[in-house]
Order: sequence, then C-alpha cells, then structure tokens
Amino acid sequence: MKRVENRVCIVTGGAVGIGHACVLRLAQEGAKVAIFDVDDAAGEALAREVGGHCAYWHVDVADEAAVKAAIDAVAARFGAVHVLVNNAGIAGTNKPTHELSEAEWDRVQAVNVKGVFFCTKHAIPHMKAARLGSIVNLSSIYGLVGAPDVPPYHASKGAVRLMSKTDALIYAPDRIRVNSVHPGYIRTPMVEHHLRDSGATDLEAAIREVGALHPLGHMGEPDDIAWAVVYLASDESKFVTGSELVVDGGYTAR
Ligand code: NAD
Repeated sequence: MKRVENRVCIVTGGAVGIGHACVLRLAQEGAKVAIFDVDDAAGEALAREVGGHCAYWHVDVADEAAVKAAIDAVAARFGAVHVLVNNAGIAGTNKPTHELSEAEWDRVQAVNVKGVFFCTKHAIPHMKAARLGSIVNLSSIYGLVGAPDVPPYHASKGAVRLMSKTDALIYAPDRIRVNSVHPGYIRTPMVEHHLRDSGATDLEAAIREVGALHPLGHMGEPDDIAWAVVYLASDESKFVTGSELVVDGGYTAR
C-alpha cells in the first residue's frame, strides 16, 4: 500500500534512530524523502540504500540560513514540500539543574526548540503554496511528565508540545496540520548514549531496567514511532491536528 504516494517529506535527524526508521517507512509508502542531518556518512548511506526519490542534505537545524537553503533546495528538486518531520533532537548533558551551565542549557534549546521553529518557519511557505501540509514534531513522554533527569530536555520537549498546538491553530485555515508524537523509551543511539552517560556499566541490563518502567514491559523500537509518523503524514489523519500521539508502552497511562 502506498500511504503517502508522491508526498515530499523532510525528515530532520533522519540518519539514525527514529528518524532513520521514518525515512525507510515513508519511502516504502511512496514518499519522496529528504534527509536532513549532521551525520553525513550515515545520512548519505541511507539515501543510497533507499535510492530513487531520496536525498541527503547536511543541515544543522539550529542554523536558520542552512535550514532555509536546504528546504528551498528540496522544493526545487522534488517540486514541493508536503510533510516535515521535526525529529532532530539531542538529550544534552544529564546534570541536575543547579550544575548546568548556560551553554549546556542553550544548546539543547537551540536544536530541540529553535530547530523546530526554523524548519517549520521555512517549510510553511511551501506548504501554503501546495495548499496542503503535515508537520510532525517529535516531543517525548518527557514533554508530558517529569522525571528526575535531563532538565533542559524536559523544558524543550514541553515547548515542542505547545508549539505544535499553536501552529495547528495558526495554519489550520491553510490545510496544514501540526501534531506532536510522544515516544516512550525507544532503543536508539540517543538512549544508549544517555544510559551510558547516566553511569550504566552493563548496557543490556540498563535497557531491561528502563524497559520495565513501561507497562508493556520493554522499550519500543524505532518502527513503533515511524508508523505513527506515517499515519500523521498521510491523509488517514486528515481530521487530526493539534493532537498529541503518545506511543509509550503505557508509560504515562498511570
Ligand atoms: P538519535 O540521537 O539516535 O538520533 C538523532 C539524529 O539527529 C542523529 O542522526 C543526529 O545526527 C541528528 N541530529 C542531532 N543534532 C542535529 C542537528 N543539530 N541538526 C540536524 N540533525 C541533528 O535520537 P533518537 O533517539 O532517534 O531521537 C529522535 C527524536 O525523538 C529526538 O527528537 C528525541 O528527542 C525524540 N525522542 C526519542 C526517544 C527515545 O527514547 N529514543 C524518546 C522520546 C523522544
């Protein structure tokens, strides 16, 4: 089935992890996919693997000029921009609030919040021109509930949740939908790095321990999120905007 046939989709942070799975599933469902990332080796390898209507751009989402240039280049190459998956994100340093430096705080906001702002800002004119658009913002369970770790990350994901609702209201008259996705723990390079950074010496044991926090008993996998993104990108969700799609194995149900 081709659920997003000929839709032009941009996936930020598409080189590895959740973004990588989004690229594969969107392409499989017929989309033309642009990968934006800073990991050139992984991004270019994925674009080659997908082949056909898939290409890689080196873009730091915190750099507005680079974002604008790349989005305009995608529109020139593929003819339009219909879907933006704001997935690029960083966990940042895992320190308590009183130990964080301003620079550590600012870098997380620059990528996770300003990156979403810049990509949205420069994709919107193309979506308005197409009279069609779907923006999918990766928030987190950490944008819904607290946990005693990564304070700048929580702040950033809470911001993304409400940016999604505000933009949903602003752009509804243009038929541009904006939704947030809230993953529980998904096994990706980010989570493995976060667990090591938090002092885990036995990674597999830490994965099991954190997995057990989810009522379904384990961590999710990148495809669990990619299928939610395909749904929100496609017309199957044409009446869905301003919503928060929680994909967390029941983590926030308690
Ligand atoms: P990851 O670290 O495994 O992959 C992130 C990708 O983003 C990498 O390819 C990286 O190179 C890229 N990236 C980082 N900074 C960038 C920048 N400035 N510009 C462009 N690309 C950049 O992360 P992931 O676990 O796949 O997470 C993807 C998204 O999902 C993030 O927004 C994350 O906060 C969110 N999320 C992840 C989880 C999880 O458990 N993995 C849970 C909730 C939310």
